[in-house]
Amino acid sequence: MCLICGNPSANHTGQLPRRHFLGLLGAGLAATAFAPILRAAAKGPPPKPQNVLTPAEAFARLVEGNRRYVAGTTRRTDFATERAALVHGQNPYAGILSCADSRVGPEFAFDASRGDLFIVRVAGNFLESDGLASLEYTTAVLGTPLLVVLGHDKCGAVHAAIEVVEDGAKLPGHLPELVHHLKPAVKAAEHKSGDLLANAIEANVALTVEKLKNSGPIISRLVEEKKVRVVGGIYRLATGQVDFLF
Ligand SMILES: [Zn+2]
Repeated sequence: MCLICGNPSANHTGQLPRRHFLGLLGAGLAATAFAPILRAAAKGPPPKPQNVLTPAEAFARLVEGNRRYVAGTTRRTDFATERAALVHGQNPYAGILSCADSRVGPEFAFDASRGDLFIVRVAGNFLESDGLASLEYTTAVLGTPLLVVLGHDKCGAVHAAIEVVEDGAKLPGHLPELVHHLKPAVKAAEHKSGDLLANAIEANVALTVEKLKNSGPIISRLVEEKKVRVVGGIYRLATGQVDFLF
């Protein structure tokens, strides 16, 4: 089965850049199920050489992109040239676990372009196994050096979780499943002073960062070896500023 598209008869492994193969050998992961894809990954150069960064460099680039976004000085992108460069592969410099809220756009917020950010989105930016697998893919196979859990102020998903936990609200459809993942953050925040929603949003990001950092066997190991850094941030709806949590 192709690990890129999931097609049992396909094989797109030649699309992967060389450095990821080498990085994974260093992480001792080549003997895992990734081995076939890693062997094929040694074939080509990264399509965006400017995205070959250390975790610290990737973080600095995100911060600088957000600064431009807030200041209204975002860069103009030549999409036509960029599309062509990315046909045969990708090497994003950051993976983002973002809330699905339509007011939060990671590519906009970090003034990034195609091939720069590998984004998983779900209302409430919590970590589930399928999202984790996606982030394992971008770090282990694509060589992404930085992961960001991106929450935002006035998050409706966290607000709904508070209503359930604090007021016993009953939600329709599958919404209780979503709230289930956010309850630990509400519980962690309910005894703090100040605004419960703001505190729960921050707790949710912090808890998710810790969960992601400790998610074995791939990401925890890459973090331990300092090949990947995991950070959390809160996007401010009014200003576009991302405040990072440390
Ligand atoms: Zn939200």
